[in-house]
Amino acid sequence: MTRICAQYHRQQHRDLGESLRWFKAVHCRCYNPVTGTCDPDCPDGHDQNGMVYVEQTVNPALKALISQIQQPTVDPQYGLIQVSATRISVMPDEIPLARLDRVILTQRPLTARPVLVRGNGTLLDPLTNTPVVAVQSVTQDGMVYQEGTDWQLNGANIEWLTGGQHPADGSRYRVEHTYHPTYSFVGLEDNTTPYDAAGVPLPLRGVLSLV
Ligand SMILES: [Zn+2]
Repeated sequence: MTRICAQYHRQQHRDLGESLRWFKAVHCRCYNPVTGTCDPDCPDGHDQNGMVYVEQTVNPALKALISQIQQPTVDPQYGLIQVSATRISVMPDEIPLARLDRVILTQRPLTARPVLVRGNGTLLDPLTNTPVVAVQSVTQDGMVYQEGTDWQLNGANIEWLTGGQHPADGSRYRVEHTYHPTYSFVGLEDNTTPYDAAGVPLPLRGVLSLV
């Protein structure tokens, strides 16, 4: 019975789910398990938890179910309130998500409208909401800069092209672009195990928090 159930869940994830990129959270190599501390001068760029994120290969056929839920939380001013949270469900034998792992939902681009400062002595102005999907517009005070003539997207940077128009060095301009948000898996939703007593996988569900 549970075996049929597992097949049903697996098929449901593939049919109704979304693609994702998965990054496993691992302790940085500077982490000392005896003291539980990290080297503050570490060159490997670990985050404040001492973790680095290693992208895992995900078979494109494997999908995650994503949904918005209302989650109760205690606000210091208003008491118990409901906040919207993003929930993910995966099959644990396919994508064994663990706490602090990161995922990028590649079918849910968000829009960002940052104000950038034209850099001095460089042609590149970095965007901070990454990975960037596409740039919709680059403007300053009604001036619309032309893609391909004035600027181009270079990785996660607006690259100003020689010979084109550009904002004055040090001045502010606005970019509108889409990007794929990165989420942190904050852990299982409840105390259930993702495998039943017979070792049959059941959906692993938990809440995602925007990084
Ligand atoms: Zn480190």
